[in-house]
Amino acid sequence: MKRCEWLLAVLSSALVPSFASEAQPGPLWQSTSYKGQEIGKLTGEVYYARTDDYVSAFMVTPDGIVLVEPVGKEHATWLKAELARRFGVPVKYVIYSHSHGDHASGAAVFADTARIIGHEALLGLVAMPPASTPLPQNLREQDGNGNGRIERGEAQAQIAAGFDFYDADGDGALSGAEATRGPLKQVAPPDLTYAAQVNITLGGKRVEVIPIPTDHAPDNTVVRFVDRSNVVFASDWITNGRVPFGPNVTMPSELAKIRQVEALDFEHFVCSHGRLGTKADVAANLRYREAVAAAVGDAIAAGKTLEQTRDTVLMSDYAEWEFYEQQRPQNVAGAYRLQTASR
Ligand SMILES: [Zn+2]
Repeated sequence: MKRCEWLLAVLSSALVPSFASEAQPGPLWQSTSYKGQEIGKLTGEVYYARTDDYVSAFMVTPDGIVLVEPVGKEHATWLKAELARRFGVPVKYVIYSHSHGDHASGAAVFADTARIIGHEALLGLVAMPPASTPLPQNLREQDGNGNGRIERGEAQAQIAAGFDFYDADGDGALSGAEATRGPLKQVAPPDLTYAAQVNITLGGKRVEVIPIPTDHAPDNTVVRFVDRSNVVFASDWITNGRVPFGPNVTMPSELAKIRQVEALDFEHFVCSHGRLGTKADVAANLRYREAVAAAVGDAIAAGKTLEQTRDTVLMSDYAEWEFYEQQRPQNVAGAYRLQTASR
């Protein structure tokens, strides 16, 4: 495995302890067919840049480049050199979609020319918790010598694989605070924050930075690049030809926010992972979620148990979507719990 694949896999899987049911397991990313690094045009002067399953997007103007999602230090370092070689203008803004380490690491690579922008809620999410914070309950079994820290030699599984991203002070042991904070060592704090929409105007073009807090990320930000047929970027949320992740995909608040994205004026849709999409993919993702909610509602009305519902609401029209096998049961079971809890 190339180092970048390893790194991305490690960062994704390392999110598991911190983000519980919302985590998108790393091994799944390795299993997808998207490999290698490439840059391609979407519309006008808006482009995407891929490293394996991860995709960032940027707009080129005569006065510089606006980038969303550094992805990681390796992606950012490669991209910076490619941008200099192809376009000859510096990156002026790096926008964070959300704080998770496998999307927000590496922005410091651009700090010599760029301002880093993030939702104000990101500051709290990347801050180091108080030094007195104990190890999270689910990691205490890794503290073999019982000293309240996880030394490098004690770390297991994703903590071992992502150790250096957790170990913020580099002392070779994870305190409770470091383990609780997550693998965020390479996430630089933003220079500018916002709580409501801000528009970046550069070289006569506009980029809209639109905060839409989601179940996955309270600091979630959607970016609309206004150029020709327009591009919308939204990370880890509305997936292209891929079953959405976790148990909360049918929450009415989530559906309302997806409708808000769908109502924006754009043709191209980049979801930070997998294949490139269009507005039709946003609509399809919404329809899937609505169909799961409706089918689960029917099953509940027919008196089915959670297990019966999970085993019969097969959503077979979507069997070709990626991660159907892994995520469809979670989506259905989550919808069942949501709808029965609200009764
Ligand atoms: Zn995420």
